[in-house]
Amino acid sequence: MSEAQIIDGKSLAFKLKAEIAEKVSAHSLKPNLAVVLVGNDEASLIYDRNKQKAAQAIGMDCLIYHLEESVSERELLELVSQLNNDDRVNGILVQLPLPAHLNPLHVLTQISPEKDVDGFNPYNVGLLQANSPQAFVPATPKGILYMLKQIYPDLSGKNAVVIGRSNIVGKPMAALLLNQNCTVTVVHSKTKKIEDITRQADIVIAACGKPNIVKADWVKEGAFVVDVGINRIGGKICGDVDFDAVRQKAAYITPVPGGVGPMTIAMLLANTYEAFIRQNHLKF
Ligand code: NAP
Repeated sequence: MSEAQIIDGKSLAFKLKAEIAEKVSAHSLKPNLAVVLVGNDEASLIYDRNKQKAAQAIGMDCLIYHLEESVSERELLELVSQLNNDDRVNGILVQLPLPAHLNPLHVLTQISPEKDVDGFNPYNVGLLQANSPQAFVPATPKGILYMLKQIYPDLSGKNAVVIGRSNIVGKPMAALLLNQNCTVTVVHSKTKKIEDITRQADIVIAACGKPNIVKADWVKEGAFVVDVGINRIGGKICGDVDFDAVRQKAAYITPVPGGVGPMTIAMLLANTYEAFIRQNHLKF
C-alpha cells in the first residue's frame, strides 16, 4: 500500500481566507470580532494574537479585551453584556480555559447566540444537535468536516470514530458527523480496547491530547485519519497520531502542525463573516 495522501490544512485555510477576504472587501462595513482573554496563559495569548492577525489580514476588525486573572465573574459578564449590546461588534469569543474561579458555562450562556462565533453557547449547541443550519458550529470540528469533504463529498454510511468527548471538539464533531449520516462512535479515557473500535473505522478523529497514541495497528487500511492533538514534547509539537507509522496504513492523513490548526482559524473567520452578514441582513 502506498503512503497516505497528506491533507494540507495550511493551503486549504489559505484558500478559504482568500475567499472570505474577497467577500469582506465588497462591503463598506468591516466584520468585527471581539476576543476576551482572561489572565496570562502563554498558549492562550499566542492563540488570540494569531486570531487577531488572521482577522486583520483579511480586512476584519479584531480587538482583544485582555482582563486581569483576578477579574470577578460579575465584571466579566458586564463586559460580555456590553459587547452583546454594541452594534459594531459582530462576533464574540471568550478564550477558554478560564481561571478556576470563573464558571465557563455562566459566561458562555451569556454570549448572545447571534454573536456566538465559537458556537459554545448552549443555544447553538442545541441547534447543532437539532441539525439546524442556523447553528454556529465550533470552528475545529467545522474545519475537520471541510477537510473530510474534500475527499468524501458524501459521508453517508461511513463508520467514524471520535477519540475524545470534550465540549469543544469531540462532542460537536460527533454531532456534525451524525448529521452527515455517518455511523458515529465516541471513545474516551474510560473506553476499553479503543484500538478494537478504531480498527473498524473509515474515519478516525483523534482529539484526546495524548502524544502519538494512535498507532498503525489502531487503523484499518485506507482509513482517513484526522489528528486534532497539539502536544509539546521537548519543545517540538506533535499530534495524537503516530504520523510516520500511520501514514503507511491510512489513505488520508492530516499533519500536525499544518492540518487542523490552520483550518480552525479559517472557520472562526468564516463564522464571524456569517454573523456579520446575518446581523446586517445581507446575502452571502
Ligand atoms: P480535553 O478537553 O482535554 O478532552 C480530551 C478528551 O480526550 C476527553 O474526552 C478525554 O476523556 C479523552 N481522553 C484522554 N485520554 C484519553 C485516552 N488515553 N484515550 C481515549 N480518550 C482519552 O481536550 P480538547 O480540548 O478536546 O483537545 C484535545 C486535543 O486537541 C488537545 O491536544 C488540544 O490541544 C487539541 N486541540 C486542537 C485544536 C486545533 O485547532 N488544532 C483545537 C482544540 C483542541 P474523558 O472525557 O474521559 O476525560
